[in-house]
Amino acid sequence: MLKNKNAIITGSTSGIGFGIAQALAAQGVNIMLNGFGDRAKIEAMRAELGQSFNVKVVYSSADMTRPDEIKTMVDDAIDAFGTVDILINNAGIQHVAMVDEFPIDKWDDIIAINLSSSFHTIRAALPDMKKNGWGRIINIASIHGIAASPFKSAYVAAKHGVVGLTKTVALEVAEQNITVNAICPGYVRTPLVENQIADTAKVRGISPDEVIRDVMMDRQASKKFVEINEVAAFVVFLCGDGAASITGVALPQDGGWSAL
Ligand code: NAD
Repeated sequence: MLKNKNAIITGSTSGIGFGIAQALAAQGVNIMLNGFGDRAKIEAMRAELGQSFNVKVVYSSADMTRPDEIKTMVDDAIDAFGTVDILINNAGIQHVAMVDEFPIDKWDDIIAINLSSSFHTIRAALPDMKKNGWGRIINIASIHGIAASPFKSAYVAAKHGVVGLTKTVALEVAEQNITVNAICPGYVRTPLVENQIADTAKVRGISPDEVIRDVMMDRQASKKFVEINEVAAFVVFLCGDGAASITGVALPQDGGWSAL
């Protein structure tokens, strides 16, 4: 049922975002990739994704801190595909520090990329979804959209904000066949988490192995990382007809973290 739908996935040149791009492309969805990285590598990913699944794949280099570039990205997707049916707000960064030592520029970047960019993408893409009478907006929040951890003030604030945005937009479009949900993963081993292991080791004065065992897996009851393909499969489910009545919720995918 998703064949020939069109999706924008922010932050999809790496990690969870690229996994979501692969899973949606496998369903026949045309994809707009977005994110930073080596241009030749991104072009190779773009071309391979299109060839593997016989879908149209385009790339936008829009910086999620820049509202003007976000608007252009959405306009470019509509130009390339005709419509935007699925919007996955996934771009995100992390920084770990005590709140009174938290660099102001890092706070501003995290709020811009992890929270405000979702407002700007939704604002730009929603009129097209309303016109078509169908849409799926999935915000990749985090278990930190529901629970806090020390040293992550900006990230936790941004992700809680994403959950609030999700609920509000869901109510605004509930009668228009547009669902809006947040997925809240526990730890997934991606480049974002690899960097965090080193940073957290420094802040807490412990080894990287201790960070994984005693910090990251402490509340993840399964004691194992969530896999990228599990998050991608959840996205595919939420895009389907079976999820038509699921809207306005923050859905944990956290190995039991939120049950504690
Ligand atoms: P990642 O570092 O592998 O990927 C992040 C992506 O965002 C990359 O494509 C990067 O280029 C892009 N990006 C960063 N800044 C950008 C900007 N200014 N403009 C456009 N793109 C930008 O990280 P990931 O772990 O795959 O994280 C993806 C999302 O999942 C994030 O929102 C993150 O908060 C969330 N998340 C991750 C985990 C985890 O454990 N990895 C857990 C819960 C939620």
